[in-house]
Amino acid sequence: MAPNARLDHRNPLVFDTHELGRRPGALQRLTREIDAPVDLGIQGVVGVPEGAPVELELRLESVMEGVLVTGTARAQAEGECVRCLEPVELELEADFQELFSYPDADDRGRVIAEPGDDAEDDEDRFFLEDGLFDLEPLLRDAVVLALPMQPVCQDDCPGLCSECGARLLDDPDHHHDAVDIRWAALQGLAGSLEPGEKDEMSGGVPRSAPADEKQEK
Ligand SMILES: [Zn+2]
Ligand SMILES: [Zn+2]
Repeated sequence: MAPNARLDHRNPLVFDTHELGRRPGALQRLTREIDAPVDLGIQGVVGVPEGAPVELELRLESVMEGVLVTGTARAQAEGECVRCLEPVELELEADFQELFSYPDADDRGRVIAEPGDDAEDDEDRFFLEDGLFDLEPLLRDAVVLALPMQPVCQDDCPGLCSECGARLLDDPDHHHDAVDIRWAALQGLAGSLEPGEKDEMSGGVPRSAPADEKQEK
């Protein structure tokens, strides 16, 4: 385990197990809402925006060698459909479980679990520090596992037209004449001069939110 700075109990992702006590079998349930830390998610793909609310539900259980932490994190994640590039919002629910060991159990060499053949086992272990533990690494791993590597706006999103880049969901009958693509493109151009159809090529331009329209009153 890397030597780390002492945990700060004011950090919203640091939890205190003193109230739980060390009697095996003792249980404590708690909930906490935190602001999402920076880069919570799969970078550049989908994640919880920094500062967005994350609801944490934790169950702390005192066991012989430490505290078993089981919990769920819920938040709203945002990303971009990998097929049509439209913004995607999804409900994130990430479960986690980890044992935080008492450091003294280790000092005396009385690790309850069989010591591993190599030291790497030890690096994967989490320890309590002065009765505190840091949920952040656990939360990060759980969130990454719970998020889709390839988010889509809907399961059957057909993506973008390979000929002209139009979003096929908006235009299900969209097709090009394979025999004479250039002529079809010209026809498409003529049709696209109607108002509201011009922005199809840009794709990534954010559409104005409904909230904006209300504000104009
Ligand atoms: Zn899509
Ligand atoms: Zn097209």
